[in-house]
Amino acid sequence: MRLSRYFLPVTKESPADAQIVSHKLMLRAGMIRQTAAGIYAWLPLGHRVLRRIEQIVRDEQDKAGAVELLMPTLQSADLWRQSGRYDAYGPEMLRITDRHDREMLYGPTNEEMITAIFRDSARSYRDLPRTLYHIQWKFRDEVRPRFGVMRGREFLMKDAYSFDIDEAGARHSYNRMFVAYLRTYARMGLRAIPMQADTGPIGGDLSHEFIVLAPTGESEVFYHSNWEAPAVVEDIDLDDAEGLQAIVSGLTRDYAATDEKRDLAREAAAGDALRQSRGVEVGHIFFFGTKYSAAMGMKVQGPDGTEVVPQMGSYGIGVSRLMAAIIEASHDDKGIIWPDSVAPYAVGLINMRIDDAKCSAAADDLYTRLQAAGVDTLYDDRDERGGAKFATMDLIGLPWQIVIGPKGIERGVVELKRRATGEKVELSVEDALARVAG
Ligand code: ATP
Ligand code: MG
Repeated sequence: MRLSRYFLPVTKESPADAQIVSHKLMLRAGMIRQTAAGIYAWLPLGHRVLRRIEQIVRDEQDKAGAVELLMPTLQSADLWRQSGRYDAYGPEMLRITDRHDREMLYGPTNEEMITAIFRDSARSYRDLPRTLYHIQWKFRDEVRPRFGVMRGREFLMKDAYSFDIDEAGARHSYNRMFVAYLRTYARMGLRAIPMQADTGPIGGDLSHEFIVLAPTGESEVFYHSNWEAPAVVEDIDLDDAEGLQAIVSGLTRDYAATDEKRDLAREAAAGDALRQSRGVEVGHIFFFGTKYSAAMGMKVQGPDGTEVVPQMGSYGIGVSRLMAAIIEASHDDKGIIWPDSVAPYAVGLINMRIDDAKCSAAADDLYTRLQAAGVDTLYDDRDERGGAKFATMDLIGLPWQIVIGPKGIERGVVELKRRATGEKVELSVEDALARVAG
């Protein structure tokens, strides 16, 4: 993409209304624009990152055996009356009336809808187990939307729902998601610690929140120092229920918890092993048994012919919140430092002198070759000072920068910079191409 034709409204000044670094940087880097309290437009750069995060989430859900579908944002109140949650949910639910005076709502979550959809088709134990998921916008009328997309009112969530014939099966489905979550966060360069959580209004008895440590996080957390090293989750067989249970038990033995359960965490990690910090919740998983299936009349025929009420779990990841969490974890005083896996473009190509024919020809040529090699490139071909171009590139945090100037071109070299380390090297165009395409 040529920057001269892009829409990247960056600003130098720190916005007065932003308190945490991710919010400031997302505004300054022209990634989001607030359109109403807690509601944001995703500008082109922010939108690209959102899609990349979403794709990693999707990929790990698929690998864990979950099946994607898409449910609507608007739901009928009657659906929520079937579970009894329509009246229970409270003011966080945005309630809407259509022209025929039918009560509707903008979905804050989808347990009712998925249960109704699956209930109407699942007949027997052979239709189970199934885990279904979607990645869809949610609305929660938060009392205090704040910190940008970290706590918005409209936000993008991946939510999955598992249906099993018995508790052991449901536990297996839960464990699959547990490991899929750790893999998902690791691919984004994040270390998320699973913390034993209260199940709250969703009900049930088994639940973990996944917390990324950050000094600006909203929750106070307690964890065992063993969590300072990342959990190894690559080579785990998700189909081996017993092996998986042993691994998840092993991982959760080093107890971690948010404020409510701090005493348990203290007991489990006595003495110097206990760490205290603040954190951002980037995911939450629940096993809640037959809470929704029973309330909504879901039954399937079991292997012995008797009717069985399926055991369910639900599994959420805050896709849009993750973007803020990644920035909290990866930035410096110049701007964002994107991990390669979620970067909006892999390379920022800077033409230092658009009025220099040789320099521009070399930059245009490298841009064409980067595109041909399939390297996502943002090409700064604007008529701007070099200093402004460098500042913009550092601010938007692309992993690689390639700088082409008239002096270098005379000598047949370009400058390659790694954003994360600041390390710069002079290379031939060929070698620079090979490094970023490799
Ligand atoms: P929180 O405790 O932060 O309010 P929650 O427990 O209400 O979150 P869940 O219902 O478990 O959230 O939703 C799943 C995930 O969606 C959360 O782990 C979080 O990452 C994300 N999420 C929840 N509320 C918001 C919000 N207002 N803005 C952005 N992301 C959110
Ligand atoms: Mg929660």
